[in-house]
Amino acid sequence: MSEQFSVHALRYAQSVGKRSSYFYGYHLSDQPDAEQHVDWYFWLLKSGNKTVLVDCGYDTDRAARKGRYVGTNPLELLSRMGVAAGDIDHVVISHAHYDHVGNIGLFPNAEFTLARSEFDWITGPYANRFPTCWVVEDEERTMIQNFARDGRFHFIDDRAEVLPGLMAWAVGGHTPGQMLVEIAATSGQVVLASDAAHFAEEYETDRPFSMFHNLEDLFAGYEQLRDLNGRTGTVVVPGHDPRVSRTFAEVEKDCFDLTSVIAPPVVHNNLERASR
Ligand SMILES: [Zn+2]
Repeated sequence: MSEQFSVHALRYAQSVGKRSSYFYGYHLSDQPDAEQHVDWYFWLLKSGNKTVLVDCGYDTDRAARKGRYVGTNPLELLSRMGVAAGDIDHVVISHAHYDHVGNIGLFPNAEFTLARSEFDWITGPYANRFPTCWVVEDEERTMIQNFARDGRFHFIDDRAEVLPGLMAWAVGGHTPGQMLVEIAATSGQVVLASDAAHFAEEYETDRPFSMFHNLEDLFAGYEQLRDLNGRTGTVVVPGHDPRVSRTFAEVEKDCFDLTSVIAPPVVHNNLERASR
């Protein structure tokens, strides 16, 4: 039998913005503007012999310069779960935005996995154009390049088993190499959408997120997530959705057990609403 993992979402910040700034073409819809609550997560996976992160949150200083609320230090969240920085064996980077790679320098024993198309994008000729240069930090790109030079990076061309029980594949859309991660968990399969769907509403109603690299790929990713979500025994977890904190058991402050559903979510199921 392949490895099974415990899977926890660790919430390191919360914020509130406007729906019109989070969804593409919102002003063309018939809905009034409203508040959109946003949670900021990274994910901790543990099997019998591996401790893995999917993403690692934003660096507090660099995020503060962007006006982002500085929440709980990721290392503090890990310590609540009994994990030290040196325990992390592997970090799967879902994509290279600052709120997902900001702390990659904190884990001295970790190897990393990233989509090759993401690496090519952040090191390519247009990476210095706005808004890419705002969401991909120079210091973080340099860290990725240095760690890659040191042989600590594994690159995924399409789809790969990162570790037994842990698959990752690129769907693009949000960024060129945005990945989904599927985990054989103790409760069944858990699919971490990360920013392939910040909010469940995106794949439930085909309402596109405001920032994307390729809109067709974004919609194709939503289709994949809908299919996965409809599969028996599989749970899809969006990347920034406050719904996560209401759906799963909070086992330590801001640490949610994604194998333990306490309240099934109220699902948006009217595809027409977003597409009119
Ligand atoms: Zn994000």
